[in-house]
Amino acid sequence: MNEVDDDDAREPGRMSDGTAVPLLANVGSVENVQNAVAKGAEGVGLLRTEFMFLEETEAPTVEEQIARYSEILEALEGRKAVARTLDAGADKPLAFLPLGKEENPALGVRGIRTVRDHEPLMRDQLTALAAAAAAVPSDLWVMAPMVADATEAEWFATMAREAGVARVGVMIEVPSSAIVADQIFGVVDFVSIGTNDLTQYTLAADRQNGAVASYQDAWHPSVLRLIGMVGDAATASGKPLSVCGEAASDPLLAVVLVGLGVTSLSMVPNALKEVRATLLRYSMEEARMLAQVALATTDAGNARGAVKAALPRPP
Ligand code: PEP
Ligand code: MG
Repeated sequence: MNEVDDDDAREPGRMSDGTAVPLLANVGSVENVQNAVAKGAEGVGLLRTEFMFLEETEAPTVEEQIARYSEILEALEGRKAVARTLDAGADKPLAFLPLGKEENPALGVRGIRTVRDHEPLMRDQLTALAAAAAAVPSDLWVMAPMVADATEAEWFATMAREAGVARVGVMIEVPSSAIVADQIFGVVDFVSIGTNDLTQYTLAADRQNGAVASYQDAWHPSVLRLIGMVGDAATASGKPLSVCGEAASDPLLAVVLVGLGVTSLSMVPNALKEVRATLLRYSMEEARMLAQVALATTDAGNARGAVKAALPRPP
């Protein structure tokens, strides 16, 4: 049994009017899952599967993968788990997946693009995820990273469903996919926004280059407007929309994200407590009002300041 550290942490995430906003954790190992559950995570919103195989020099077999995913699902004791398929590239190399050097790794072969030439790797991973979900009482959802449009989303969704995955989604972290989010919701069951990459690509600032670090701020109204477009598409489709980038762990930004149409949030476990407490202070109507305030500003600093100034109650 997993023990929860803190009594307040047993409460599911919700707004002051009672609207549920499930609070999940970003993890990369079974130890991370145990820590997340202890901190009151309602499940896992981002399992970075590539972190589980960083040391491997040969591609893990289906059997090895089933064993590793089953461990994660067992530790979750039936709670929701959103697994992301391998997200590797020249910026995040995997020893068993030779991709070569690139001039611009952030704009290169990464995420779902890496498996275009290694489709068996993707099929094996999806088969193993579906088999683990069938073997362990669980609630497994599976999504692909770095999807650029609905055609790519459909390609992935077909492969995942053929492998037996029950809930199929994609990450929206490339601006092109945010712009056509309505089309993407037409072919998948859910979407999760990766605000780290969405910010890097919207502001054209490499997230690994310290010289442009000040651009890497998801409060920027351009990023929030894209998230708002995805939120509108989610609402129109009636399908779930999560944020699993670092923006979800900023308590005030979390309120704004919910106001833009985001229905669950996934973050580092240490952020859960404060995000839970902050959401509980504001209603959905207030969150929508704060989102409108942020959308009307001209840069990230202004957005942060304007939302703080417009808070109906101090944080
Ligand atoms: C993101 O881009 O926001 C994300 C969650 O994925 P990663 O940080 O692993 O690229
Ligand atoms: Mg990403």
